[in-house]
Parts: sequence; C-alpha cells; structure tokens
Amino acid sequence: MQLPPPKPKKCLFVLADGAGDRPIKRLGNKTPYQLARTPNLDHLSKIGEDGLMDPIAPGIRPGSDTSHLQLFGYDPYKYYSGRGPIEALGVGLELQEGDIAFRCNFATIKDGIVIDRRAGRIREGTHELAKAVNEIAITSVPGVRIIFKESTEHRAALVLRGKSLSPQISTNDPHLAGRPPMKVLPIEHTEAAIRTAKALNEFIEKSHKVLRSHPVNRGRELPANYLLCRGAGKLVRPPSFEQEHGIKGTVIAAEGMIKGVGSLLGMEVIHPKGATGGYDTNLYAKADAAVEALKRSDFVFLHIKETDLAGHDGDPEKKVAVIEDIDKMLGYLLKKIDMGSTIVVFTSDHSTPCSVRNHSADPVPIVIAGGDVRIDYVTHFDELSATEGELRIRGKDLFPILMDLMGRAKKFGA
Ligand code: ZN
Ligand code: ZN
Repeated sequence: MQLPPPKPKKCLFVLADGAGDRPIKRLGNKTPYQLARTPNLDHLSKIGEDGLMDPIAPGIRPGSDTSHLQLFGYDPYKYYSGRGPIEALGVGLELQEGDIAFRCNFATIKDGIVIDRRAGRIREGTHELAKAVNEIAITSVPGVRIIFKESTEHRAALVLRGKSLSPQISTNDPHLAGRPPMKVLPIEHTEAAIRTAKALNEFIEKSHKVLRSHPVNRGRELPANYLLCRGAGKLVRPPSFEQEHGIKGTVIAAEGMIKGVGSLLGMEVIHPKGATGGYDTNLYAKADAAVEALKRSDFVFLHIKETDLAGHDGDPEKKVAVIEDIDKMLGYLLKKIDMGSTIVVFTSDHSTPCSVRNHSADPVPIVIAGGDVRIDYVTHFDELSATEGELRIRGKDLFPILMDLMGRAKKFGA
C-alpha cells in the first residue's frame, strides 16, 4: 500500500551561541556539554542525526555575524559588509544601498585623552544624547547627512548617507584608554575615501561639542562626551530570505548583531519582552514567540546568547548551568510543537571555549530531528558523542540539508 503523499515541513532552528567548547581540566577534562544534564537535547540526539559542523570552514574562527549569514544560506564572503551595517540594522535604522555605517561607543575624553572607552558603561540618557547628536549637519562635504541612534549601554550606530562614500577609512578609536583619539584618514587614495574621512572628522568634532555641554552629562563622573567610531562598512543588500529560498523566515533574538543579520536578509525579527541577551534573559518568552511564529513562518530561528557570554567570561560552571537552563526551555518548547511536521535543529554558530575566552575554529556539535530524519546511534548531545554521528559538514551544507528535509529542495538534474 502506498504511503500518503509527502507534505512540506517547517523548520525550528535553535542556536546556542558559542556553546561548543574544549575539555576543561577543572571539569575532569570534560566540556560543558559533556558535563551538563541535558535530557531533552539527548532525546533529540536519540531520535535524530548528529554530528559536527565547521560553521565556516576548518580552521576559520567565525564571527557571530558571518556565521549566521552562512547558516541562513548566504555566502559571508560575498555578502558580509562589515560590522557597522549589521549594528545599524540591529538598532532598527533603515539602511540604503551605498550607506556607510559604523558602530560607535560613547566615551569619556579629558584633556585630549580617552580616559574611558565606555563612558562608565552609561545606561541612562543615551536616547537624549543621540537625539542631540542627530541634529548635526555636515557642511565640509556637500550632500552628506548623518543618522545616529543609541543602542544598549554605551553602544550606538552611525550612518553616513550621500553619494560617493567609501568604508576605506581608518578609525578614531585608540582601542585603549589613556591614549588620544586618532584623526580619521582615508586608507585608499580615492575621492570617496577622502570625502568620507572628512565628513566623519567633522561629525566627531561637532558631536564632541554637542555632548560635552549636554545636560545628561552634568554631574557625571565619566561624561559621555566623545564618540569612537569603528567597523566602517558599506551596505551590500543581499536578496531577501524569501527571494533567495522561497520560504518565510523569522529570527527571534535580543542580541543586536543577530537582529541586524535578520533585518539585512529581510526576515521577520522578533525581540520578545523579557529577552535581554544577558544572563537574566527570559528563555521561555523566546520559546513562546517561536511557537507563535511557526504558525505563520516556514523557518523559525531562536537565538540564545548566554552560552557565548559564559565562554567569553571564561566561566565553565556558568556555561554548564546555562546549557542546563536551555535544555529545560527546550523540553518546554518541544512539547508545544508537532515534531512530525517540523524539522528541529540544535547547534551553535561557533565554539567559544572557556579556556580561549574568544571564538575558536573548533567544529560545533549539531543535531537534526523531527519529520522522517534518519536516526543514528548517538544518544548524548556533546562534542565527543557527535564524532560517532552521521553528519560531518560545513555551515554552507546545512541550509541545503534542511531544505531537503523540509521537502523544499529543487532536484539537480532529471
Ligand atoms: Zn556567536
Ligand atoms: Zn562571542
């Protein structure tokens, strides 16, 4: 007797940022994944296929932005236009083709020396400061205007808009406190780079005047009186997620950079209430948002930042605890979805080993379950068990694999 005709499936993609790790002496030479109690992840491993993934390629240390582009099915070498545009999109600025975007810090300068690159991690009043800065008019370069918006704490984004601008300019950020800021210089000999450097230098000078006399800074021990601008990038707009893949995509995240990648690709971006991108985040708000999004979207991506934070903090016990929290949320989430019609993926965008305190090129464990996905012998979700699984892939392989499992891939040939 024939089986019923297949129906296209949806995909729920849960990503624990930077969760992959290396053996840690203090944990008995185990990784946080090996040590953590994760009954729900282990269940996915038991009913699905497991393995390891090099998010970009072996030996390449991925940034979260480049890796997410890759995991969403876009070649980062073609479409990554620098950190600035991603940050600017992440704070909700609308970018146009040709815009030059920067990530900025509110900083404290005294007697010509940067004494704090984060203005005491200022939390209040940055909206008012940004509003005042936004009024600045550029006069030295005709036809250039600025758009400036605050992000979280001391962070902000700047956009230079106008004809013939170039990201080939240096930064004014000395990168260390106790040094004077630098003059912005063109780093290629083109009219566009010269114009852009000139406009940015004027903006930095004028913003210093606006900020140092602003009421928000009155009485602040570390006034937010100076802007450091870096990560210049010229927006290249890739085809939208829907154009490229023919399906609707949703990104659920609190982290600006990930929201920026989602906006860049024209995906629906949801920042659930209570989701912070910090240790105090509400994972269940994200889970609920994912369940809702699956009703209208084909590809729902849920981003969790805290594993990466614990890696950067070099805190293995915290990483174990975060993984166990994620596992509990996953149990809650899996009960609310139909695994028969949903492909579920769980993986990371890179490893952030606690011993390295930064991103490494170590491949990350991955599990794919749901639908009629093949089942391998792996029964525990961790870096070592994953070596016995079916998959050994690169990030660029993942999206086509998911499209195939969802029943949406085009056949190659007859
Ligand atoms: Zn990351
Ligand atoms: Zn990181």
